[in-house]
Parts: sequence; structure tokens; C-alpha cells
Amino acid sequence: MSTLIETDAIVIGGGIVGASAALTLALKGKRVALLERDFCGSHSSGVNYGGVRRQGRPLSQLPLSQRAHQIWGNLRELIGIDGEYQRSGHLKLARSEQDMNALRAYAEASQGFGLDLQLLDRDQLRARYPWAGDVAVGASLCADDGHANPRLVSPAFARAARRAGALVFEQAPVSDVSHDGNVFVVSTTSGLTLRATWLLNCAGAWAAALAAQFNEPVPMYSGYPAMLVTEPLPMFMDVSTGVEGGGIYARQVARGNCVLGGGQGFALDPARARPGQAAVLDILRNAVELYPPLAGAQAIRTWSGTEGYLPDREPVLGPSLNRPGLLHGFGFAGAGFQIGPAAGEALAEWVCDGASRISLDAFSIGRFQQIVLQPPAIEPVTNVIPLHRGRSSI
Ligand SMILES: Cc1cc2nc3c(=O)[nH]c(=O)nc-3n(C[C@H](O)[C@H](O)[C@H](O)COP(=O)(O)OP(=O)(O)OC[C@H]3O[C@@H](n4cnc5c(N)ncnc54)[C@H](O)[C@@H]3O)c2cc1C
Repeated sequence: MSTLIETDAIVIGGGIVGASAALTLALKGKRVALLERDFCGSHSSGVNYGGVRRQGRPLSQLPLSQRAHQIWGNLRELIGIDGEYQRSGHLKLARSEQDMNALRAYAEASQGFGLDLQLLDRDQLRARYPWAGDVAVGASLCADDGHANPRLVSPAFARAARRAGALVFEQAPVSDVSHDGNVFVVSTTSGLTLRATWLLNCAGAWAAALAAQFNEPVPMYSGYPAMLVTEPLPMFMDVSTGVEGGGIYARQVARGNCVLGGGQGFALDPARARPGQAAVLDILRNAVELYPPLAGAQAIRTWSGTEGYLPDREPVLGPSLNRPGLLHGFGFAGAGFQIGPAAGEALAEWVCDGASRISLDAFSIGRFQQIVLQPPAIEPVTNVIPLHRGRSSI
């Protein structure tokens, strides 16, 4: 038997973006239901590296990222835990003069966004971070960036949403979405039917099917960042680190374990990913060059996650151009953990205020299609594409 629920908004996807949207909506007094196929925070949002950094983002993302920085600063009040969040600093290392020039150019271009980047030459880097390997010729430090434990933070957003009054349904895969001319009608395989004026598509790497159903196809593909964690080691590094040009990133947690990422794994099936031996070996090889104290360290666990990427590596965030009431928030290209709380908040602002306080124009879904200059269709959408677990986002 199916249970019928009427709400103001339905959010599909209990990652950090959907859970943040549901939390903000509930705090603003809206009736909201959050539908998660598995468990909230069990995909990208809960298995990521844990980097909470603004440094290195495209300038287009910095206003939203700055807003996220404020939210992170208020995390305990908002979600009830600190999630091991610390403003440890984010150090971006350069391995060549050319890379150092790229860091200088970014520091200049991002001036005025409040990142306060400090450029360190070879000697300054070694004086401050004696562990840095010889291959590092300099670095850029964003002292107020940091890291957190995604396994704690992301589910806590959903729990906070529930406490604030949101209806949170886990193990509730959305199987059918339609619009009856007045409201969205959403069904789950767990037997729920929900009706609402607003529908938020926060389904992560699986969001493209719903967008396509409303005639907004996007060229999203999936990626699988490879990760590993070492045994606990004596503390040597207090910043979260990355490298200009990419390839590897590392942080050390309070218990001494080092979390490292780099390269790509592979999909086991549409919902599960593995890091793969090649990527893990690459991480280990690169790590010792940049972080010599890791020599001989034992990796105790490896993993990956499924993440959605658009070709320009910018998310799709904001209103549908075809269907009033539909909002998209997906495709964060391996960098949505830091910005996710602000992305969710921005979607909630669309529901409550008809616009977000930070412009989302750069992330419009319209960049992937001809904008249809016709009034939005009002007839019911039928023949929906079911969002089955087995559907690939590619
Ligand atoms: C290994 C890895 C490392 C990363 N490292 C970082 C980092 O250090 N810093 C950073 O900022 N970002 C990082 N990211 C990216 C970041 O984790 C993601 O961009 C962010 O978590 C995306 O959040 P989301 O809510 O959009 O997606 P998700 O967390 O994937 O949530 C989407 C949810 O939608 C659900 N869903 C899908 N289809 C349905 C359906 N039909 N019905 C119901 N529910 C459905 C899924 O089950 C899923 O839980 C990393 C990602 C990975 C994979």
C-alpha cells in the first residue's frame, strides 16, 4: 500500500547538497521531504577526501565557496557536531617554476575574494613545513581552509534536517517522477507517493536522468577518485595539501592516519566504485616524493566513490529552464564537499524567495542546450524515465 505525502518541496538525494537544502528549507518553515535511495551521506558526500578548501577553485565558484566557508565556521551550531572540521590551512605545492607561476597567477586573479593566499618560496616552505620533499619548489597557503571527516559531517546534515522538521526517508529509491500540471508527483520503490510544488534534483552522479526527463539533457559523466588511508603515524603535517596540476593530495588526521587521494578508480556497477591497483600504486609512488615521512607507511584501506562531472567542471545549480518548480544541484566535479552546504542553501533560497542571494548564473543548465523560447509546457509529463539504481549517468 502506498503512503501519500503532501509537502512544499521534495528533495531527491541525501548527499550534502540535498541534505543542506532540506535543512535550510525546514529551518525556513517549509514542509520538505528528503528522499535517499541508500543512506544519507553514503555516496560521494560521505566517502570523499574531506578537503574543505576554497583555494584552487574557479573564480566563478568563489562567492558561493566563501558563503560555504561561513557555514562551515558555524558547523556545530548548524548540525550539532564539529565533524572533525579544522581550519588547518590548505597548502598547494608547486613542483616546477611553471607551476609556481600558475600559483602566483591564481593568487593575483583571486584577490578580492577573501582567500588571503600567501606565496612561499623554496626556503620559506621548508622553514615552515620541514617535511616537504625536495621536489617542491614553493607553495601557496590558504591559512583558513581546512579539512573535515565526511563520514561524520554529511549524515549529520540529514539528521539536522530531520530535527528541524524535514521528513527524511532512507532506502527510498525514487522510481517515478511526473508533473500533473499543478504539482510534481514522485514515487519510490519503498511505497511512498509524494506531491509538491517544488522538486530539487540533488541526485549526484545519477541526476542526469531526471534532467533529461524534463528535456534538459546534460553531458554528465562519472569519475571515481581513488583514495587510501595509512596506519597511524607520528604527527608531521598539520595542513591539508594538494599539488598544482593535480595528481595527489594528502592530510593527516588527529589520530595520525594520513588520508591520500589521486588518480581515478573504476565503477564496479552504477552505484559502487573501487580505487583500482594502478591508481593506488601511483598515489604511493608520488606520495613519498612530496611527503618523505610517508616512506614505508602501510596503507590500511583503499576506497573510491562515484562523482558526476560536466565537461567544464562546473556544477549545474539553479532552476530548470523548462519546468517551473524544478531545481537542479549536481555535477560538482570532485569538489562539492566544501561548497555543498552553500549550494543546498542557495537552492532553498530559490524555493523561499524566488532567487538565491548569490548569483547562480554561471552554473545554469542552459549552458548545455538551446534555450527554448516557448512558454513552459503545462500538460502532464508522462512516460517518465525511471531513476532506477541501475541507470548509469553517462
Ligand atoms: C573519492 C572522492 C573524493 C572527493 N574529495 C573531495 C574533497 O576533498 N573536497 C570536496 O570539496 N569535494 C570532494 N569530492 C566531491 C564531493 O564529495 C561531491 O562533489 C559532493 O559530495 C557531492 O554531493 P551531492 O550531494 O551532490 O552528491 P552525493 O553525495 O553523491 O549524493 C547524491 C545522493 O543521491 C542519491 N540518489 C541518486 N539517485 C537517487 C534516486 N533515484 N532516489 C533517491 N536517491 C537517489 C544517491 O544515493 C546519493 O546519496 C570528492 C568526491 C569523491 C568521490
